[in-house]
Amino acid sequence: MNNLAMPAADLTAVPCAVADVVVNTPVNRAGGYAATSDIFSYEIPPLLQGQIEPGHLVWVPFSGRRLQGIVVGLRSDAPPGVTLRALAELAAAEPVLSAVQLELARWLSQRYLAPLRDCLFIMLPAGVAQRVDVVLSRQGAGPLPDDLSAEQRALLVRLQRNDASQRVLKKENPVWVQSRVLQPLLRRGLVTRRSAVTSPTVRPHVQPLVRLLADPETIRQVLPTLGRRSKQADALEMLARHTPPVLTMDALQKLAGCGPGPLQALADRGSIRIVSAPDTHGRQASLALTPAEADAAVISLRGGEKYQRVLDVLRESAEPLWVGRVLAAANVDMPTLRTLAGAGLIALESVEVMRDPLAGRTFAQQTPPLLTAEQEKAWGAIESVLTAARPANMSSRFFLLFGVTGSGKTEIYLRAIATALAQGQQAIVLVPEIALTPQTIARFAVRFPNRIAVWHSDLSVGERFDTWRRIRRGELPVVIGPRSALFAPLTNVGVIIMDEEHDSSYKEHERQPRYQARAVALRLGQLTGATVILGSATPALETFYAAQRGQLQLLSLHNRVMGHRPGTEGGDVQPLTIELPEVTVVDLRQELRAGNRSILSRALQAALQQTLDAGEQAILFLNRRGNATVVMCRDCGHVEQCTRCELPMTYHGPLAEQEQPVGVELTPQGARRLEQAVLTPFLLCHQCNRRRPVPTTCPACGSVRIRYLGAGTQRIEQAVREQFAQARTLRWDRDTTQHKGAHAEILEQFSNHQANVLIGTQMIAKGLDLPMVTLVGVISADMGLYLPDMRAAEHTFQVLMQVAGRAGRSARGGQVIVQTYTPDHYTVSAASQHDYISFFRRELDYRRQLDYPPLTRLVRLVYSHSNAEQAEAETQRVARLLQGEISRLGMSDVGMIGPAPCFFARLRYRYRWHILVRGRGSDPSAVVRLITLPAGWHIDVDPVNLL
Ligand code: ADP
Ligand code: ZN
Ligand code: ZN
Repeated sequence: MNNLAMPAADLTAVPCAVADVVVNTPVNRAGGYAATSDIFSYEIPPLLQGQIEPGHLVWVPFSGRRLQGIVVGLRSDAPPGVTLRALAELAAAEPVLSAVQLELARWLSQRYLAPLRDCLFIMLPAGVAQRVDVVLSRQGAGPLPDDLSAEQRALLVRLQRNDASQRVLKKENPVWVQSRVLQPLLRRGLVTRRSAVTSPTVRPHVQPLVRLLADPETIRQVLPTLGRRSKQADALEMLARHTPPVLTMDALQKLAGCGPGPLQALADRGSIRIVSAPDTHGRQASLALTPAEADAAVISLRGGEKYQRVLDVLRESAEPLWVGRVLAAANVDMPTLRTLAGAGLIALESVEVMRDPLAGRTFAQQTPPLLTAEQEKAWGAIESVLTAARPANMSSRFFLLFGVTGSGKTEIYLRAIATALAQGQQAIVLVPEIALTPQTIARFAVRFPNRIAVWHSDLSVGERFDTWRRIRRGELPVVIGPRSALFAPLTNVGVIIMDEEHDSSYKEHERQPRYQARAVALRLGQLTGATVILGSATPALETFYAAQRGQLQLLSLHNRVMGHRPGTEGGDVQPLTIELPEVTVVDLRQELRAGNRSILSRALQAALQQTLDAGEQAILFLNRRGNATVVMCRDCGHVEQCTRCELPMTYHGPLAEQEQPVGVELTPQGARRLEQAVLTPFLLCHQCNRRRPVPTTCPACGSVRIRYLGAGTQRIEQAVREQFAQARTLRWDRDTTQHKGAHAEILEQFSNHQANVLIGTQMIAKGLDLPMVTLVGVISADMGLYLPDMRAAEHTFQVLMQVAGRAGRSARGGQVIVQTYTPDHYTVSAASQHDYISFFRRELDYRRQLDYPPLTRLVRLVYSHSNAEQAEAETQRVARLLQGEISRLGMSDVGMIGPAPCFFARLRYRYRWHILVRGRGSDPSAVVRLITLPAGWHIDVDPVNLL
């Protein structure tokens, strides 16, 4: 088709004849990471013109297949030189993505060098982008036209009965859905087609309901007619309806179609009186009951009390009731309901029931507490922006709520949500990990009952799909979830809250797009005009740096509010503040010198004893990520570092069992390498690939007690059990949380005091707020510190502050004991003084010296391959390409680090190598964008994880 050949008038009549579509399949087109590279144009068939908008889900032909795609744009003409194929059909009646979401997807694609397809489909729950039902319905009534084929007639007759999906029809008669039969009917408008966003894997639950239809007067008239046949009832009814209610016996018998027997029976019951009429020779029947009594008697004679009971049950409720409840309450069976429905007194309906992860949990609503002066001040700033008639400019709408643990940040989030809701707006609340923060979720649910959607990664496909639809319909205006909650289909977002904004779970590591939720939240705030609140006690360096530079408004809360005080919840009691728990730093080198070889220092042992004696609870925290093995001097705490990168070098000893290849055929070189690794331990810098032999004496103090470090939660548990008879321990780590619901179980057990010592890794550092926890022990602050990761100090600081925040949440107070080999490290000393600012300054200096973020930006390229040589060679090749582009462009402020093997050098039997591209002023992705990478590579822009 060639639009240019058409007269001008027609061109304007058909303004958008072409749709740009992103299909749901990986495409590898030239153009690399340009956001346009996976867009294909399709002609819109005349039937669909004017019906298709950007955001629609459609079916299109694509290299011999039929695929789903999302319309991302419309145009009047084909791009020059392109022959178009026609788009097949709409897959869903309504657009599945909003204009804002399309824009956000484009931005994600650009920023994270990810295919646009991945950025679009990430916003749809699994159920939507699967098969969609196309439902056919018969249009118009009346006689069928004469010129139809037998099949067409049969189809129309079939559809007259009810609407049916193409899939069902195909089963009933495959001929019906053939286009020679169906198309002419569609064209003539005798049949229409629509699509329903349901999917075979996630069928909605349907619940049958009973609704009361008739008014009392209708019921009074109809009810006596229902039920079994009864001559007595007929006669009584006739008599009662007659005015006056007096008839001769003959007349009544004729009207009721009965003999004298039933009338005599009625007289025996006292319902009627039979008297001899004075003026005639016959006898007369007259009603002995009031009209209401007569009705009741008629109903009773027909066995109609059961109908009465149903109607009584329904009358008590304003809402339709579930069938099962009606059957039980009225003690009736289904035919009874059908009879009532047949008489038009009630309706049997069904509603879709949404699967709701909060279902079955009841939350009593709570009124908000009075704010502290600090909270009041911070809230004032946010409120004035939220309620401003016109959205303020970006940087004044974006807040960093910097408040120590327990300073009442959540209370401010709750107010912000309430204000947004009051203005008819919606809210997104990001939390690090739902499973780890059940207490937080409950607080939101209490304040906004029935308005919260939990966007849980553990949701079943069905739950996720239902939640998506309920959000889309506007039924659930508050969406709480991990990073992907940003993609919930809200239409009018007023506030976006990101709790614990520094948390590393906000960065996607696994799949494209590898986005940082903080950046996406701010972008979404820009696109929607929403207020964005980032909250943390230990903001990410990037975030605090941005606040310092005025890109975010900084609001600080310095004091901890005393929670768990009777009367404060919802009362008008002035809130009290409470000191942060005192932190004691224990030097493990001293312990060793004093002859204490236990994992627990003398100070920690004493404190634990005291806690257990007092009937209180303790948390023991192991700061450990991965199986970090660094070489450390037990006497002076010296850690071997790469002189070039100032990162700890990793110990590669005789291969651990899980690292050894199983059932893998080794090349001769591979075998030699393996042999070397097994026999000769060495130290490796995982950033620049420098190797060194393992020292036998400490370069700093000459001690021979230099060895590698590592202890697990099991060993700690064992130590505690051996030393403390009263200890009832509970472990919270990767091993004990394999199954679904494990987190909640452990938390519950600990909250219920089934255990008094909780031992765990990172997981226990998050949102726990338990009044009986008065001691937190950090087993070794250093372990996480010596990961070869430029953020090791930052992560360690954050986790130390978080875990310290678990102690002393009530008037009982609390203490924290931090064990370390390096008490003088600025991370440990700043954490022990709850001093974020001084940590921030030191750490920023370090980053500045080494040109790390936030002063620069990084893009990480990771390659993995089952063959070690190939992994290295390919990484070297791409490094040369990158270097070539950097020189060609003359970008003096872009540089490359590596290539080197990753810290996790082998994952799932693949060897992993990486390259970092770093930009000082310039965006490093500008260079990476120019290179087309084969399969096996992945790109991570602004990486958080460098391991
Ligand atoms: P954060 O989110 O900063 O860790 P929270 O909002 O969880 O702090 O507050 C800590 C505790 O103090 C909670 O138990 C909370 O209910 C309580 N709290 C917060 N603000 C107030 C207030 N103004 N009055 C009374 N209690 C408060
Ligand atoms: Zn030493
Ligand atoms: Zn190095």
